[in-house]
This record gives sequence, structure tokens and C-alpha cells, in this order.
Amino acid sequence: MVPGCTRDARHAAGPSATAEIARAVMRRGQTCALGSRFAAAGALTPCTYSTSVKGWGYPLVVGRVDCARYPGSVRIDLHTHTRYSDGTDTPAELIGNARAAGLDVIALTDHDTTAGWAEAANAARGSGVALVRGAEVSTRAEGMSVHILSYLHDPDDADLATLLASSRSAREVRARRMIEGLSRDFPITWEAVLAQAQAANAVGRPHMADALVAVGSVPSRDEAFASILHASGPYYVPIDVPDSAQAVRAIRAAGGVPVLAHPLASARGRVIGEGTMAELVEAGLAAFEADHRDHDAATRAKVRELAARWGVPVTGSSDYHGSGKLNRLGENLTEPDVYESLAAQGHLEVIK
Ligand code: AMP
Ligand code: ZN
Ligand code: FE
Ligand code: FE
Repeated sequence: MVPGCTRDARHAAGPSATAEIARAVMRRGQTCALGSRFAAAGALTPCTYSTSVKGWGYPLVVGRVDCARYPGSVRIDLHTHTRYSDGTDTPAELIGNARAAGLDVIALTDHDTTAGWAEAANAARGSGVALVRGAEVSTRAEGMSVHILSYLHDPDDADLATLLASSRSAREVRARRMIEGLSRDFPITWEAVLAQAQAANAVGRPHMADALVAVGSVPSRDEAFASILHASGPYYVPIDVPDSAQAVRAIRAAGGVPVLAHPLASARGRVIGEGTMAELVEAGLAAFEADHRDHDAATRAKVRELAARWGVPVTGSSDYHGSGKLNRLGENLTEPDVYESLAAQGHLEVIK
């Protein structure tokens, strides 16, 4: 049980200790709008949206607010990258930055690789930041790129390891083809992109963007993605990766917990339809990532509505890439009870 979790507090406090419950709810980063007993305890604050939890005869209404405003709340960010894919931090820097950002739990989810796991685990042990080892698995559905986060899978599972290795090779094949096209119009070479990728075990468009920035063809990674490297642009080549439902099954078979990353992030290109999302739930998807920078408020609500329809929880995360992207650690968070239920489904332990 996560410290400060409501369920914990309710059980521990018992029916008479209403003030204790209210404080525990607030510690967890939520506001309480309660009956007069709670008001007397000084815990009455308005909530923006609410779910009702019945307890001991009086309703306990809980509204979600920004956890960052409440010291002591549990802060969980389940989607981050390092230099082993297209982030800029080393795994140790990531853990240090997570600590500085006041996070209690992070998931390391480099694209198609677990190369950063050992370093991250060493840095996480005893650091106060718990580590969920994971990966962001490249897949395709409806002819589009679909990212599926895999948490706590067995790294020795042969099928999943083979799947990830072949996706890394497919990334290289794709990068060479994209660079061939790009090199007709821009001073970019395979060697220049490799120089940007450095330690990366999974070469991608961010490294091509960096190479274009280095020669002054474009001012920033962001602008490269918005123009030259956009998925609907003339230079884009898709990566030859497995079908999304097949990947969800492979992740489950390896003891992993599959979560659909930024499902409706339309600025990146077209997004999958509800039929495909339902199919992924059917294949074993554990959750949808709802709170993500690339989802506006209406999109987040839509993801929540679909998740509720199919009975899966939602997560929130930063998709931090170090200085490679604007995303800041902890800018979106996952609820402790959702985190606990995901962690309980995984083959590996969370490292503390
Ligand atoms: P790829 O997998 O090679 O097609 O590249 C997609 C990756 O680029 C994703 O991991 C994104 O996080 C990253 N990306 C997408 N948009 C941007 C952006 N505007 N700036 C930097 N990185 C981006
Ligand atoms: Zn990335
Ligand atoms: Fe992604
Ligand atoms: Fe990501």
C-alpha cells in the first residue's frame, strides 16, 4: 500500500476518525468536499470534479487536484526516456532529476530497449525514488504508429526480447531510408545522425532532428517535427514493427503490463479508432494513458470516457525526454491506486 493512500487511511482510521481521513485524502493530493463533521475538522475545500465514496454512513466526496500543491502526496510518473533511446539524461541523471522533481515513483520507458535498466536500478536503490522498469514498444495498427508502454516484463522472455530486437533493427533500416530522402534536400548523412544518437540503442526521428539542427536546417527538434520530419510529410518512412494487438499479447505473455501511450495524440498524425482500442483491451491492455501533454482537456475526457466504457483505468505521465523535449518530470501523474494495481500485475518487482 502506498503511504498516504485513502484506502489505507480509511481502514486504519476507523469510522470515528473523520478528521484523520480528511487529512489523509489531502496528503494524497486531493481535496475533500464533505459533510459538516469534515468541515469542523478544517478539511472542507471545493472540488472540481468528484467521485463519491460511501464510508460509515456519510459520503466522502473526493475531487482530484494538482498533487504538486500538497507536500507529502505520492507522486507517480510512469513514462520517461533516457539517452538509451531519445532522451538526453543518463539513467542516473533521470533518477536524480526525478528526486529533485519530488517524485516518489518513476517508470523508465525507453523506446524498444531495456538497455538503461541496470544503470537506472543501481541509481534508484535507496534513493527514495522507486523505479518501475519498462519500455515503450513501437507497434502499428491501421497503418499508424502506436506506442505501447510495457511495465515490469521479464527481460529474459525470448519472444518479447526478439520482438524488441527486431524493432531496433527496423528502426535502423527506416532511419537509413529517411536519411536517403532527406539528404536530397538537406545536408544530412547517416554518420551525422549516428553521431547524435550516441549511446542510443534505438535510433529515431529525434536524432535526425538533432542532425538537422546541428547543420542549421531547422532551429529546434520541435520545429523539425512540426515540418520536415512530420508523419504526414514527404520524408517520413514508417518503422516495420509488429501489429499492436500482437505486441499487447507478447507483453502479457512476458509478464509485462501493457498500457496504451498517448492514444489520441492527434498532433503527431492520425490516431487509431475506437474499434482498434477495443481490440487492444480485448488483447489484454491494462490501462490507457489519459493525462499527457499531447492530449488537450477534451481529449483527456474522451480517453477517460472510453476507459470507463471498457472498464480499464487511466494513467498520467510526463513522457520526459530531458532537454530533448519540453515535457517536465511530474507534469502529469498517475493515481496511487492505479499504480498499485498495475505494479501488482507485473512479473518484476518495483525497485526501491
Ligand atoms: P520515431 O519513433 O523515430 O518515429 O520518433 C518519434 C519520437 O519522437 C517519439 O518518441 C516522440 O517522443 C519524439 N517526438 C515527437 N514529437 C517531438 C517533438 N516535437 N520534439 C521532440 N521529440 C518529439
Ligand atoms: Zn521518444
Ligand atoms: Fe510515445
Ligand atoms: Fe515516450
